[in-house]
Amino acid sequence: MEKIKKEEEKIEKRGRSMGLLLPLRILLVSLIVGAPRANAWGKEGHFMVCKIAEQYLTDKTLTAVSDLLPPVAEGDLASVCSWADQMRFRYRWASPLHYINTPGVCNFKYSRDCHNSKGEKDMCVAGAISNYTAQLQTYGDSSSGYNLTESLMFLAHFVGDIHQPLHVGFEDDEGGNTIIVHWYRRKSNLHHVWDVSMIETAMKDYYNDDLNTMLEAIQMNITSDKLNQWETCSEKLATCVNQYATESITLACDYAYKDVEQDSTLEDDYFFSRLPVVEERIAQGGVRLATILNEIFDGSSAEIELKLSRAARVGRARQILL
Ligand SMILES: [Zn+2]
Repeated sequence: MEKIKKEEEKIEKRGRSMGLLLPLRILLVSLIVGAPRANAWGKEGHFMVCKIAEQYLTDKTLTAVSDLLPPVAEGDLASVCSWADQMRFRYRWASPLHYINTPGVCNFKYSRDCHNSKGEKDMCVAGAISNYTAQLQTYGDSSSGYNLTESLMFLAHFVGDIHQPLHVGFEDDEGGNTIIVHWYRRKSNLHHVWDVSMIETAMKDYYNDDLNTMLEAIQMNITSDKLNQWETCSEKLATCVNQYATESITLACDYAYKDVEQDSTLEDDYFFSRLPVVEERIAQGGVRLATILNEIFDGSSAEIELKLSRAARVGRARQILL
């Protein structure tokens, strides 16, 4: 943590640009309005998404990622996957980039929903993923004016965020942030339950309070069928952001919001039926982050598939051993 702070200070001192493709005017306006709304998957959730992604990176992608990571990461992408949350107060303009609001409906439409509170286009998590993907595609181009280290850390974080169902939630309740609930005996809000509490409770109840044990269990459930499904989308775009967002708002309606009201007490019934969704979304986020990074830095889809199936075989072998 201390190291990350130092790195942030270094970046700040260098006065590096914020690096969005969006006009400076928007950024300046956004600096003034709006307080950060929600967190994201907690640190544990983002760490697991990035750890899973690391497993599926091709050698060429790994080299590029290591080249871009700040020294503080010591070559480990997962160690900086919550960086974007730590920067939320410093980079106010980026706050709306962590989520999407829908007008109280269970579907996502990019043109209707991907904007900030001022109505500025592309200022949402789906727009941010496309934007930072485009920036990273300038890697190796000596005229690229972007801070690609930040682009990589933002991208890795936002691919995690878009997979948290309540990061594509209703505007009125701020993705569940204003829905006060009790998580067992503790007062909380619905958004926080999905970001943090379910992961914490699962770790405590099932995984001996050990994140790596939870991570392994999630990885073991990634079958090759799932990999094939998750790495593509019908739109055939580089990042499939519309599909990720649509999946999240659907899960938000079918699982997160379902049977929850103000002051609901959520306990075993809710936990047991929703935890599989949390675990699968973390796995999907990881696989998709790897797919995006491989496409950016490697581009050879045949090689990606090979690497993916190799990882799946390793996963299956582990399962059999247990
Ligand atoms: Zn976030």
